[in-house]
Amino acid sequence: MKERPKLLVTCRVFPEVIEHLRPHFVLDGNATDRALAGDELLRRAADRDALFVAAGDRVDRALLDACPRLKIVATGSVGYNHIDIDACRARGVAVTYTPGVLTEATADLAWALLMAAARRLAETERWLREGHWNTWTFDQFLGADVHGATLGIIGMGRIGSAIARRARGFDMRVLYHNRTPAANAADLGAQRCALDELLASADHVVLVVPATAQTHHLIGARELALMKPGSVLVNIARGGIVDDAALAQALRSGRPGAAGLDVYENEPHVHPALLDLPNVVLTPHIGSATRSARLGMAMLAADNLVAWAEERPLPTPVPL
Ligand code: NAP
Repeated sequence: MKERPKLLVTCRVFPEVIEHLRPHFVLDGNATDRALAGDELLRRAADRDALFVAAGDRVDRALLDACPRLKIVATGSVGYNHIDIDACRARGVAVTYTPGVLTEATADLAWALLMAAARRLAETERWLREGHWNTWTFDQFLGADVHGATLGIIGMGRIGSAIARRARGFDMRVLYHNRTPAANAADLGAQRCALDELLASADHVVLVVPATAQTHHLIGARELALMKPGSVLVNIARGGIVDDAALAQALRSGRPGAAGLDVYENEPHVHPALLDLPNVVLTPHIGSATRSARLGMAMLAADNLVAWAEERPLPTPVPL
């Protein structure tokens, strides 16, 4: 009988996903809250044929060099900027990801952050809990209108389109910026424009592009200065696309007026200047964190691994 390949699952996943994998692999799993990192990751990955990783795991040349038997890396995420794709290709290591299954949940979180930042939910909730509420005035805690406003979406792909679809219910005008025209833009009533024009025209801006060399610090001090006073910036894409230090500085000047952030340059560390600001809503990379989305992601990663073990075509390899 053929020997089962060896798999390392680097982070805790749902029991049903482990049961799906178990018949096909000799399994080493990490059932702890702690990410495997540094030497421990290298040591446990060293004799593996396959890796099941998540967005927080760095699959770089050092890790690949330490894993001479490695044939496949399946990430339970749609972003794959944590994996050195070129180095994997050069070594003949297949890489798979999980597009689609987290689209709607992540679009929901973009909206949650937009609404929370525009209407000052985190700030006012802290104020209430601290016992400051003893009066009501007309000018108290004024926020920005979301309904009827202009929404700028940077990255009109799967998630960007789902965000635009929701904007219709809020009677919003939608602008978007992509390198190429989005095929569904007309159906969504969205108008393509240059990045600077979008930043200057939109009342609120959502970032949902992949992290690449091209998008690193796509939004820095110059771009932030183009945004409207009182506007909201939401980043649910990846850390490093926004210059966090520049954003903290810009938020102090009210341009943009508020931000909703799910991702950060040095996750899990958040720039201390952001932590000090009242006009930013911060979540710990929970864009896809609903049970159905996370189970869908983990199962799709597992489906790719099982397909590989059975020598079938991979369901979702990363695009060439
Ligand atoms: P997608 O369908 O591939 O969409 C990406 C969009 O970005 C495309 O429309 C693409 O259009 C555009 N784009 C790429 N490079 C660009 C550039 N340099 N300038 C302008 N536009 C650019 O991906 P998706 O499924 O929507 O996911 C998008 C990203 O969201 C992922 O890569 C991931 O990092 C992030 N994400 C975060 C969370 C979270 O938990 N916070 C959850 C899910 C996803 P063109 O190619 O035409 O430019």
